[in-house]
Amino acid sequence: MCEFQVKATRKLQVIDITPRIREIVARDGLEEGLCCVFVPHATAAVAINENADPQIGEDLQEALAKAVPQGIWRHDRIDNNAAAHIKAAILGSSETAPVTRGQLLLGTWQSIMLLEFDGPRERRVVVQIG
Ligand code: ZN
Repeated sequence: MCEFQVKATRKLQVIDITPRIREIVARDGLEEGLCCVFVPHATAAVAINENADPQIGEDLQEALAKAVPQGIWRHDRIDNNAAAHIKAAILGSSETAPVTRGQLLLGTWQSIMLLEFDGPRERRVVVQIG
């Protein structure tokens, strides 16, 4: 298991963590297997999608914001971040990609991204390779 920190500086943010994951996979030395990327958080998520055009991440944040309005949920009475929890649950807290020939297998346009829904915060990213 390997872990690193990511600093989200805005409330809503998409952070490409692919280079750090590739580095961890290369250092690990596993030839064939799986790489699981997990965030131990209830208001952030991991997604695999395109980041060559960073507007896709912004579009995803906007689409989720339209689908999940703020301030109308039961949990908002507790700490006013129910929308962040719902968005994180929709996307999920992990992604798994194959490792083949010692490298992370991603499509040409795929990146691994951390989605922040309740920043600014320091986030932990856990990587399990096996
Ligand atoms: Zn909460």
